[in-house]
Amino acid sequence: MALARLHDLGEPLPAAIVERLHAVIGNKPAALHEPEFAGNEWAYVKECLDTGWVSTAGRFVERFEGMLTEFTGARHAIATVNGTAALHAALMIAGVVAGDEVMVPALTFVATANAVAHAGGVPHFAEVERATLGLDAQRLRRRLERVAERRDGGIVNTETGRPIRAVVCMHTFGHPSDLPDLLEVCADFGLPLIEDAAESLGSYYGERHTGTFGRLGVLSFNGNKTVTTGGGGAILTDDDDLARTARHLTTTAKLPHAWAFDHDRVGYNYRLPNINAALGCAQLEQLPGFIDRKRRLAQAYDQAFAGLEGVCVIHEPAGCRSNFWLNALLLDDDDESLRDAVLAACQAAGIGARPAWTPMHRLPMYRSAPRDDLSLTESLCRRLINLPSSPRLADGLDA
Ligand SMILES: *Cc1c(COP(=O)(O)O)cnc(C)c1O
Repeated sequence: MALARLHDLGEPLPAAIVERLHAVIGNKPAALHEPEFAGNEWAYVKECLDTGWVSTAGRFVERFEGMLTEFTGARHAIATVNGTAALHAALMIAGVVAGDEVMVPALTFVATANAVAHAGGVPHFAEVERATLGLDAQRLRRRLERVAERRDGGIVNTETGRPIRAVVCMHTFGHPSDLPDLLEVCADFGLPLIEDAAESLGSYYGERHTGTFGRLGVLSFNGNKTVTTGGGGAILTDDDDLARTARHLTTTAKLPHAWAFDHDRVGYNYRLPNINAALGCAQLEQLPGFIDRKRRLAQAYDQAFAGLEGVCVIHEPAGCRSNFWLNALLLDDDDESLRDAVLAACQAAGIGARPAWTPMHRLPMYRSAPRDDLSLTESLCRRLINLPSSPRLADGLDA
């Protein structure tokens, strides 16, 4: 047993982990990630109700999009009902059509793969790297060199006969992927990069915000993300034409007119309601504070776990500034039963820890999807544990 082997001389690892978690976050129960509404949320939502502007038009939607472009540096932001809808629309706008393959990391939340399926495509799962927990650019290059062939101005998977149309990277737990190297691989194969930045609002590669490197980027404002609109998302892009298409496609493809209802393609009712945008404006006002506190919490975890054998904390990648959306521990031992013993000990102590996702290629609907060797993804999924990461947990820490 891994437990006995690692810790026959001392305290079992699960108990040691719980003890260190208590030292950082105190003894009260702590959820994985809780929203915090300490700003203008009530006032802005009340304004929507008082004025009757609750649906997909209204000044808070525009203001929210303006705050997003200001914060991220993207030229355009189009607010949507959720992050999955934003990804679905972004894939269609990038040219993904039925029967296409899209390269996607196997270590991600299911929405990344589902959005490809919603667009009629097939996710093709690629391997991640240890340093970023995001797509491994060198492995992606080798995979494409092995299976792809240039045909009719695009590339085709010779094993399946399907065109490969795009690459989606995902900034896991808020840690930026290796964007420069991924962009180079994409350029060499003529593929657009779409960034699933759902977890990385407030994370930077160098000086630049994640979600602004690819042709399109996508954010999420679900209840467990760094800022929330209840449910919500956004598409980011610097391209004026793509932004226009994004707005059109997510607004039922309605042609602008004072009274006529004319639509020029099958569109989607994907725009964010004003009442949700009101919440979002109030939340974005607090974002810098949320991130400061989340980064302080990450530092405290780092110190608390330094020197504990058998486990390490996940750090921000070199040259990056992470929002530490979810802090994470990585167990040395590749043994799911040890991970589950840690999770059980945390649960018994009221600590909302959880494992990483089941890797995409292990889910029933994606079991037969094309994929690279995914040994590292599988090992990481057996060893990763996410830790409570709400900003408020930093409040008891020494400054
Ligand atoms: C949260 C999330 C999304 C989008 O989720 P929604 O709930 O639809 O807003 C997409 N991808 C990843 C990796 C996520 O974590």
